[in-house]
Amino acid sequence: MGDAKHQSQKGHKLHLNKNLTILDSYRHELSGARLILACNEEHDESLFIIAWVAPWQKTIKNYNSFKSELAALTAFSRDKATQPPITTEIARDWQHSKVSNWEQKFVDKNDAKLSIQQIENVIRLISKDFNLPHEIKLQHSKNLKANIATYDHKIRTITFGNISRLGDILHEMSHCIDADINGNNQGNWSDHGPSFMRTYLVLLDKYKHWDTLKYLENSARKAGVRIAAASSLPHLPEPEVIHSPHDHPHSLAVKTKLHLERDLTILKEIQHECSGARLIAAKINDGALDSTSGYIVEWIAPWQKTISSNHLLLDESYALRIFQEKEQKGVPFMPSLCRDWQRKKVKDWKKKAENKQSPDLTTEEIKNIVEKLSHDFGLAAAPTVEINKKIECGVCYNEAEQKIELTRPRLDHLLQGLAFHFDAFVNNNMNGHWADHNPGFVRTLLKLIELTEPERNCAALEKDASDTGIMIAPQSILPCPHVTP
Ligand SMILES: [Zn+2]
Repeated sequence: MGDAKHQSQKGHKLHLNKNLTILDSYRHELSGARLILACNEEHDESLFIIAWVAPWQKTIKNYNSFKSELAALTAFSRDKATQPPITTEIARDWQHSKVSNWEQKFVDKNDAKLSIQQIENVIRLISKDFNLPHEIKLQHSKNLKANIATYDHKIRTITFGNISRLGDILHEMSHCIDADINGNNQGNWSDHGPSFMRTYLVLLDKYKHWDTLKYLENSARKAGVRIAAASSLPHLPEPEVIHSPHDHPHSLAVKTKLHLERDLTILKEIQHECSGARLIAAKINDGALDSTSGYIVEWIAPWQKTISSNHLLLDESYALRIFQEKEQKGVPFMPSLCRDWQRKKVKDWKKKAENKQSPDLTTEEIKNIVEKLSHDFGLAAAPTVEINKKIECGVCYNEAEQKIELTRPRLDHLLQGLAFHFDAFVNNNMNGHWADHNPGFVRTLLKLIELTEPERNCAALEKDASDTGIMIAPQSILPCPHVTP
C-alpha cells in the first residue's frame, strides 16, 4: 500500500459481467484462478480494479481499486508474478463432483482390488520416482465405504477402505504430489483443481496405461473438468531411464506410446512363466513415430496391447545388450503387472474345480496334508491353518503371517490356500509383486489337486482352464516334488 491513489475495497460487491469491463487477465494455471485488471464504469472514484478470481466466481468482494491506470498496470504486472492469495474463494473445491463423476465413468471401474502389499509397492514406487520428501503412511479403515480412499497431508497418510484399486491409489498420490511438488500444500487452492487433475493424468499415464492419455484427457474436458497445462507443473521428474542418454549415445529419453502389433516388430522375447510378463526387444516400424525411429526393450504385462516406453534405443546391438541386462535383473515391480487380469476367469474355474463331495477334514488330517505338501515343495516350514467362520469366500490367505483361514475345513479350499502360499514362497510372487491369480498360481493349484486327489481327472481340469482362456504356467516352474509316501 502506501499509494495514495490505491485503496482496498471490501464488501462492495461487483458483478464481473455487469459492472466491469475486463481489460487484461492472467491465469494461474495450477489453481485456475485469474488475476483480472478491469475498469469499473459505474464508479467515478475507483475506475480500475485488480482482483484474483476463482473459476466459479461471478461476483467479487475483495479487490484493489486504483484511480490511475498506470498504478493499476504496475500492480497488475507485479501481482502476475505471485500466486493467488489464500482465501476461501480460491480454496473452494469447486470441481470435486465433476472430477468424481468423470472418474467413476472413465477410470479403473473394472479393475480388481489391490492387496495391501501391492498398494504399498505402488506408493513406494511413486515416492521414489517423484522424489517425494516425506514417507507416505498407509492405514486401513473398515468404515470408509462411500469414499474409497482419502489423503491427509498433515499426517501424510492415505486411508483406504475395503476396495482399493490402482486408480484410487493414484488419485490419493496425486494429492501428495499436488501438495509436496506443485505447492498446493495448505489448501492454497482447490483440492481437485487443475493442478491436481494434470498430476492425476500424469500418474494414470505413467503407471496405469490401460487407456491412452489423449482419451482420458478428452473425456475429462468433455465432462467439464479443468486441467492445468502440462508445462505449468513444476519439477515433474523425467521418466525413469536406465542409463542417461549422456552416458550412452545410443539412446534417447523420449516418451513414446506404441501399439504392440501395429508399431513394433519383435526381435527377441522371453516370458517369465509365473507372472506371464514378457520381456521384448523390438524394432519400431517405419512411420510409427513422427520424426525418429529405433528400438525398445521393455517388460510388458500379459494383457497389454500398448507399451509406454521412456527409452528409445538407437541401434540394434545396444538394444540386445539392454535386453540381456533386463533379463538378468528379472521382472521389475510394475503396477500394470499387479492388475489381476485373469481373476474372474480363474475364480469361475476354481468353483468348477472344487470337489463338493469332499468331507470335512479333521485337524489332524489338515496338519498332515499341509506338512507333507510343504515338504514336497521344498519349504522348511509349513503355513498355519485356522478355521474362521467369518471368512466370506471360503478361503483367505495372509502372506505376512503365513496363515490360511478357512470357513470350513474343506480339502478343496485348503488346497487353494496352499496354492497362494506356494505361489508366494515357491514361485516367488512375494509382496504382491504380480497378480494373485497368475499363471503360476493356476499351475500350482493343478499340481496340488493332482498330488492329493489322484482319483480326479487333472488333465480334464487343465483343458477346461485353458479352453476358457486362462494362462497356465508350464510344469517346469515347480520343483519336481520328491513325493513322500
Ligand atoms: Zn481426492
